[in-house]
Amino acid sequence: MADICNKCGMLKDLCVCEILDKQGVAKIKIYTTKKKFKKLVTIVEGIDSAQIDQTTRELKHKLACGGSAKEGVIILQGDHKKKIPAVLKALGYLPESIEVSDRFGG
Ligand SMILES: [Zn+2]
Repeated sequence: MADICNKCGMLKDLCVCEILDKQGVAKIKIYTTKKKFKKLVTIVEGIDSAQIDQTTRELKHKLACGGSAKEGVIILQGDHKKKIPAVLKALGYLPESIEVSDRFGG
């Protein structure tokens, strides 16, 4: 009987979700919103404060968009939800820690 993790879709034997949860790996949340900003922006939450400035720079560079980091939250102009995970992975973030959410609010 194969036990499949409903989080990552891997066999439970291969799944590392529980280990990551135990280690308290920061969850990075990516979503788009228009609230407060009038224009559509992409929000990246959960980046470590020690890396947030460099990560913001890289994202702006790779996505060729404007953006800023405030209080642990990266705000990027436009919708970059689909591209950000690949950029974060290239920067060394664990794919398991990256979560792309559907639009919040709107
Ligand atoms: Zn899993």
